Amino acid sequence: MFQRRTVVAAKRSVAQWRSLATASPVSSGRNHKIVVVGGGTAGLTISHQLLHSGKFAQDDIAVIDPAAWHHYQPGWTLVGGGLKDKTELRKPLNSLIDPKFKFYNQGVGTFSPTENALTLENGDKINYEHLVVVPGLSINYGAIKGLPEALADRNSTVSTIYSYDTCDKAFRNIENLRGGNAIFTQPVGVVKCAGAPQKIMWLALDHWKRAGLYNPANPSDSPIKISFATGLPMMFGVPKYSVVLEQMRKDRGVEGLFQHDLLAIDGKAAIFASPEGEVTRQFDMLHVTPKMGAHGFVKNSSLANEAGFVDVDEHTTRHKKFPNVWSAGDAASLPTSKTAAAVTAESPVLVRNLLQSIEGKELDASYDGYTSCPLVTQYGKVLLAEFKYGGVPKETFGNMFGIDQAKPRRAFYYLKKDFFPWVYYNYMIKGNWGGPDGFL
Ligand SMILES: Cc1cc2nc3c(=O)[nH]c(=O)nc-3n(C[C@H](O)[C@H](O)[C@H](O)COP(=O)(O)OP(=O)(O)OC[C@H]3O[C@@H](n4cnc5c(N)ncnc54)[C@H](O)[C@@H]3O)c2cc1C
Repeated sequence: MFQRRTVVAAKRSVAQWRSLATASPVSSGRNHKIVVVGGGTAGLTISHQLLHSGKFAQDDIAVIDPAAWHHYQPGWTLVGGGLKDKTELRKPLNSLIDPKFKFYNQGVGTFSPTENALTLENGDKINYEHLVVVPGLSINYGAIKGLPEALADRNSTVSTIYSYDTCDKAFRNIENLRGGNAIFTQPVGVVKCAGAPQKIMWLALDHWKRAGLYNPANPSDSPIKISFATGLPMMFGVPKYSVVLEQMRKDRGVEGLFQHDLLAIDGKAAIFASPEGEVTRQFDMLHVTPKMGAHGFVKNSSLANEAGFVDVDEHTTRHKKFPNVWSAGDAASLPTSKTAAAVTAESPVLVRNLLQSIEGKELDASYDGYTSCPLVTQYGKVLLAEFKYGGVPKETFGNMFGIDQAKPRRAFYYLKKDFFPWVYYNYMIKGNWGGPDGFL
């Protein structure tokens, strides 16, 4: 499969890297050949792909994660649209971890990359030869004043699909709204799956249309009015898809509040920062996409770049300063849209390059920024955005069948609703799915 990947342009001196890495000869006690921080989408995918190489014995690889559950997060949008039961989308984390791994069900507290070690939150020190840092993003609910309280209040009409606890509240609120202003927000800055803030809006719109509460042809006479308040100046970061989504917004009578970044919630008032200053809008239902960023323990470490993400080369996924440190997924500095789909393409590159590095060979796999966002535009239709670095479309089915993926299709909807959750738990996190490259 790596024949298809571009050979890394700038070949680095293997000797240079080798001299920097300190190796301990065996995995024993708290010494491991590879330590993977995070057992989420990237952590499980990468650790299992490493295991499939056949090069690791019992406890050579350690996975560290404090969570009790592993979640299929892309499914939370479907829960918010009333299409899935959230309990079906999670599994106990320890049931997904191969018995050949040493599993530390703890959080990492600090990194000491110059010592090839890290410290758990309980104070235990773990040593490694190679470190894979994949703890995802932190959701900063408190960055929007009033949001934590509004989410916790079962009776409030404020919700978010960005949390297991509230993704079903999102659908309850959509179902209960009979009239008034519905506002959907997207913040300035990095979020997981940048399309999700509007996917939930399109599903809600369709729900209200079917219930006779919203008429896209005559929104001003409809009981419900819909606004999309986004920190971005456009509907989506990739021009090809943004044009289509902007036209859809206009055709469906959704108000666009661009460059509006939610600051605070006060009762039924949403307060936004905008180029014209603070703007207050009354709402009857509010769907919030919270602000997100790097975890503190990553941001405050020497592994982080200025923005707090693990500072890796955008093609090799290797750390720019510490050659035995690697990262992918949401925690990495890779300048692409943060999705599980991106992890499918990043993981084989990281694994290949890490194994090459162990053998003292040059890194020959290169990540091109591939990511994907199945944009649900109504019940039964999905626009399948797939692109690489620079927002350049890289469409699997476009290339295969010559179709335009910017056109919402029923087949893509079934990919999103049924195929992706199935392939995720049965193949991807077991290390056997390469996204557009198919089964591994
Ligand atoms: C609402 C929503 C919709 C989405 N829709 C899509 C979609 O349609 N398509 C798509 O491809 N992607 C989608 N995504 C994004 C996708 O889920 C993420 O990009 C993906 O899960 C990132 O994987 P990750 O391993 O980097 O992070 P995660 O899967 O979040 O895993 C991070 C792991 O690190 C652990 N961790 C945290 N702190 C520590 C610590 N101190 N020490 C050790 N471990 C720690 C966590 O417990 C967690 O298990 C969506 C996400 C959301 C929330």
